[in-house]
Amino acid sequence: MSLEPKVCVVGSANLDLVARAARIPRPGETVLGYDYFEAPGGKGLNQAVAAARSGAQVAFVAALGSDNAADALGGVIVADGIDPTAICRVDGPTGRALINVGDDGENSIVVVPGANGRLDARHVRIHGPTVAAAHVVLAQLEVPIEAIIAAFEVAHAVGATTILNPAPAAELPDELLALVDILVPNEHELALLGGDTALIRSGVPALVVTQGAKGCDFFDASGRHHVEPFEVVAIDTTAAGDAFCGALAARLAHGHPLTESLRWASAAGALATTTVGAVPSIPNAAAIRALIDTAR
Ligand code: ADP
Repeated sequence: MSLEPKVCVVGSANLDLVARAARIPRPGETVLGYDYFEAPGGKGLNQAVAAARSGAQVAFVAALGSDNAADALGGVIVADGIDPTAICRVDGPTGRALINVGDDGENSIVVVPGANGRLDARHVRIHGPTVAAAHVVLAQLEVPIEAIIAAFEVAHAVGATTILNPAPAAELPDELLALVDILVPNEHELALLGGDTALIRSGVPALVVTQGAKGCDFFDASGRHHVEPFEVVAIDTTAAGDAFCGALAARLAHGHPLTESLRWASAAGALATTTVGAVPSIPNAAAIRALIDTAR
């Protein structure tokens, strides 16, 4: 029996196909690119990696396809020590994000959910014991809502904490919102959900609003509190929110209070902006601790 705290992440895994060109093409146009690379991504996988690098034992509930991308992502998952037993394989393509990036920083992205769209409640319930073993269950909105609801129902039945990162921005059914202990939107997602006042009135026990370089706010029964950002030289903000959410889940699973866990998560989010990419930019516990120690 391991003594490490357990986090279960329910979410997406994608292979990101990134092309760089002087500018992104207009509709109907073809432009010549000059660079191409493939990298693991998807909010679920990013957050699972972030929780693992923060020192939690992580199980990932996800769906991969029947292609080479599934094997590549499977390798990434195992390399970060993430438990892959609740990952199912379905016929068809693994999730992919086709990303064009221009030199002016503009991008255009087509996400094809593929296998991610096939993660269903039945699969989650089959792996109910894996979900039930976690102290914290963390999800985002890149897999069907029915799978998230099924996982959060299992979590609540055993008294585990549920965290929902409502990204990409979407309205939330009441049935899901009623199962959320901590909601972590960014400012854009918060606006789509009707703002902090409406969310708190709807009964969300804790609300954390990430604000990029401005830090984050959290709201609890005693009101609104601000967590200052860590000062870093940001060069690519991809996956800052994912690093934040995964690190937060890991610290809460360790039994740390919310305020202390938010400071840890803020350091993780800040560090993720200092390196290019999603999974490669996610910091480990030593780097997070070093940033917190130097900022003291
Ligand atoms: P998302 O990627 O979901 O939009 P944010 O951009 O709000 O999420 O980033 C999540 C958290 O990461 C922020 O609340 C903050 O703590 C940290 N962070 C993000 N960008 C920076 C930055 N430029 N400097 C310092 N911290 C940052």
